[in-house]
Amino acid sequence: MTEILDGKLISQQIQEELFLEIDRIKEQGGKIPHLAAILVGNDGASETYVAAKVKACEKVGFKSTLLRLPETTTEQELLAKVNKLNTNPEIDGYIVQLPLPKHINENKIIEAIAPQKDVDGFHPQNVGRMALNLPTYLPATPYGIIQLLERYAIDTTGKHCVVIGRSHIVGSPMSILMARNAFPGNCTVTLCHSRTANLKEFTQKADILIVALGKPEFITADMVKEGVVIIDVGITRIPSATTKSGFKLAGDVHYDSVAPKASFITPVPGGVGPMTIASLLVNTLKASRKEIYK
Ligand code: NAD
Repeated sequence: MTEILDGKLISQQIQEELFLEIDRIKEQGGKIPHLAAILVGNDGASETYVAAKVKACEKVGFKSTLLRLPETTTEQELLAKVNKLNTNPEIDGYIVQLPLPKHINENKIIEAIAPQKDVDGFHPQNVGRMALNLPTYLPATPYGIIQLLERYAIDTTGKHCVVIGRSHIVGSPMSILMARNAFPGNCTVTLCHSRTANLKEFTQKADILIVALGKPEFITADMVKEGVVIIDVGITRIPSATTKSGFKLAGDVHYDSVAPKASFITPVPGGVGPMTIASLLVNTLKASRKEIYK
């Protein structure tokens, strides 16, 4: 029997828990967590993501500030905004929505974010702390997947976990987290990418398959074994004759053929996506409590 890993439901549960926590903080006269987001330019997908993050803050009772900057913002101007947020005691954590316009060096901006306010977990110091299994802000999407595996009590110890994709925001951190000596974790991990030869040989051996490559319905039934746990991170808009908009969201996994073989599977939408937002909120609460950097 296949069980759905319901990210929408678990994300709602986490947000309800946060809502109750905010009530307690208010009763005790504590500081309400405050997340800021910087959005540069008018990229449609980025606008949607940032709007969802701000809305989620409001829903759980966090404060949020959205700083919209024009596409023409220079690197120097953005660095100045980042420095302002670094020193503003009211802001507990913030994100700079990626991608940035081409004329801005993303790494330079990420390195300028104060690690204690880096709730996206992208600063090299936080990435290093993750690799060393030290307390840190885990990047939101991998953290969301970890929480999903944890809440469904998926057995990961000693399992073979195959991760497809080596991006800094999903695949690479996911491979580190699944290999570390923790639960969820303790897997034997294989990290596959665009230069992997004979990908199918690896995917067929996976007990847990985490797919983050951005190619809709790439993983088909013949590529997986019976009982596999599937985490589908991909989200791509593809044309659809059956929806009003003419589009639908597709994952990297061909759901209809793969799901019957899987023991657990995340749907798209409603799987990893909602968990990403919940994780950002959890990181913001940790920042406001100074849990990571005392
Ligand atoms: P990316 O484009 O940065 O990385 C893609 C990776 O896939 C690369 O490392 C590449 O080596 C690998 N790859 C490409 N073709 C391959 C092939 N044929 N075989 C094996 N590996 C191959 O992508 P990303 O930012 O990691 O995002 C991946 C997908 O996840 C996208 O669809 C993105 O929209 C989605 N995403 C979803 C969330 C969420 O919250 N659900 C968050 C981040 C990204």
